[in-house]
This record gives sequence, C-alpha cells and structure tokens, in this order.
Amino acid sequence: MRYCCRCVIPDTRPNIRLDTEGVCNACRTYESRGTIDWAARERSFRRVVERAKSHSIGYDCLIPVSGGKDSHWQVATCLEYGMRPLAVTWRPPGRTELGRRNLDNLIGLGVDHIDYTVSPRVERVFMRRALAARGSPAIPMHMALFNIPLKIAVRFRIPLVVWGENSAFEYGSVDEADEGFRLDSRWLARYGVMDGTTARDWVCEELPQGVMTPYVGPSDDELAAAGVLAMFLGYYFPWDPETSLKVAQKHGFRTREAGPKTGTYDYADIDDDFVSIHHYLKWYKFGITRAFDNLSLEIRAGRVTREQAIRLLRARGEERPVEDIQRFCAFIGIAQTRFFEIVEKFRNRDVWQMRDGKWTIPDFLIPDWNWT
Ligand SMILES: [Zn+2]
Repeated sequence: MRYCCRCVIPDTRPNIRLDTEGVCNACRTYESRGTIDWAARERSFRRVVERAKSHSIGYDCLIPVSGGKDSHWQVATCLEYGMRPLAVTWRPPGRTELGRRNLDNLIGLGVDHIDYTVSPRVERVFMRRALAARGSPAIPMHMALFNIPLKIAVRFRIPLVVWGENSAFEYGSVDEADEGFRLDSRWLARYGVMDGTTARDWVCEELPQGVMTPYVGPSDDELAAAGVLAMFLGYYFPWDPETSLKVAQKHGFRTREAGPKTGTYDYADIDDDFVSIHHYLKWYKFGITRAFDNLSLEIRAGRVTREQAIRLLRARGEERPVEDIQRFCAFIGIAQTRFFEIVEKFRNRDVWQMRDGKWTIPDFLIPDWNWT
C-alpha cells in the first residue's frame, strides 16, 4: 500500500495509480486543469446546447438529480443556458428529511421532475444479496441511478443527459467537445460502480426478472437509435465542491446543521442515510475512510495542507456510522452481528494484518493510529 505524496489517497483505491514521482493520477488530472482553455470549453458547451435544442421534441435535456449541491449546479446551469430540462431522481430508500427539502427546493427552480421509487421489497432483497455476495450494498443504488435516467431519456426522446462531476475525465470520445459522448454499456461496466455486474446477473428466485426492470437500462442500439448522448458538466466547467456549493446555496440549497454526516463535508452525502455504509466499507476494502476522499480534494484545491489533512484524519478515526448501520440493518432485515460477520469476510488481506489480536494496516499513513 503506497500513498500519493501530494494528497492522502493510497493505490488501493480503484482506478488510482501512482507515477514514478509518487503522484497519483487524480492529482495529475487536477494539475492539468491549469492548461485547459476553459473559455474554449464554454464555447463547446454552447454547441452541445444548440445540438440538444435542435434535436429536441420537448425536453432538451435530462438531468439525473439527487437534490444535492451538484444537482443544483447542474439544473441552474442548464436553465441559465436556456435549456428545458426534465430532472429525474432515483428515490433512495434512506432519503433524509434534509434531502427531501433540498430536492423540493431544486424542483422549485423551475423543472419538471420524476421521483422514481423502486419497491422497497425489491430493494431490500437486492441490497441484502449485494452485501452478502459482493460486500457492495450500493450496487442496486448505482444500477438504478445510471439506468433509470437513460431509460427515461430513450422513452421521452431526450437528446442529452447532463451529469455533474466528471468521473471519467480522460475517457470521453473525440466528439465530446461538440456533441457529448455515448454513455454506453462499456462505460457503465467500467465506471458504474456495479462490480462488473448487470441486472441479469442478480436474477434469482427471490428477484425474478420482472421485478428487476428498474435496474435494466436501454441497450446500446436503443440509445443510438434514440440519439441520446451524455455529458459531464465538469468537462466544460471546472468542477469543485466549494464552487458548486456556492451556486447551490445561492439557489436555496441547505447544508447539514449538525455537521458532516460522513467525511468532512457538511454538504455532501447528506440526502441518504445508507450511502454512508457504502463509504464505510472502503475502510475494509481499501483502508480509507470517506475523509481521505474529501481531504484529498481539499489538498488539490489548495485549501488544506497534507499535514493538516493527516491531523484531521487522526482526529476523526475510522468513522463508523453507527446509527446508519442500525437503520440499514433494520431496512434489509438482518441483525447487526450478521452485518459485521459479512463485512469481515470482505476485509482485504492485502491491506490488513492481524497483529496482537487487532486488525492493523502495516505502513499506514498515520503511524500512531488508534487501532480498535
Ligand atoms: Zn494524489
């Protein structure tokens, strides 16, 4: 396990590679922003908007939204550029009161909206099976939130799907600048956080094919036939959590008064009680907490030094989301002891070592960590 010498991310995190100078690809990507001609990107964005409007038969674009700060930024930007959006949400079974209020605020900005609820009976079984089989209870979430908007875009013949943060920075196709790109099955398999599975892989007696409908996206042929392209707003405008937060707050978005729910941001991961479980399991699998992710962004943006980040990480500890684990276990119908039995099976032995009866990470970033 090696850490990036600039931020605090280790190479155990998926899609992270360190170069010969010990700098991670995420830091390098951030660095390359300085060389991007953002004015030219903005002009490209205008062309994407024009294409969408000229192909539109009603809605110009579809915006997948949670109601969070990035959703506000996406919606505000699309409205500002004169597009008529349809906003679509996969309703998380653990939606919080604050999440609901922020989503209502977002709809109030002036968009039509579909709140797509999957039967809790199905979601409960799927989450339980995804946890037990893969240690990844968020597979259903990712499958739903990628496929539902795509399927609706095809049905409504909406030419453009507008995502927020650019998670696949280097992987847009050549025509992304002028048109957007095809978010197809290849892209989903690579970046969709679905552990290389599709809905078909989860069909079983408890989850017959019919009930899995929300998790099945359109085929690549259907997407192409409907002329649906996708894009990340973060490709055209420099994405940063603080700047999208400011835009969101200007439009009525509220942060969590009680402080961060998980990680170090009081404005992220706040609309759903179960997403913290997904982040917590990174401790077992990759040896990082959500704060490692958040603070690495802050280091890159120059708002926190690496030394300050290490002090903050030490103070926060492993951040076990005790109450959310209780709620999650109640929802999927297992005892908490069973939950910890399962997650223990997914503890990564390449990262963790048993020492004096305690699980520890040799060469951990913080030498005086309190192993529990
Ligand atoms: Zn880094």
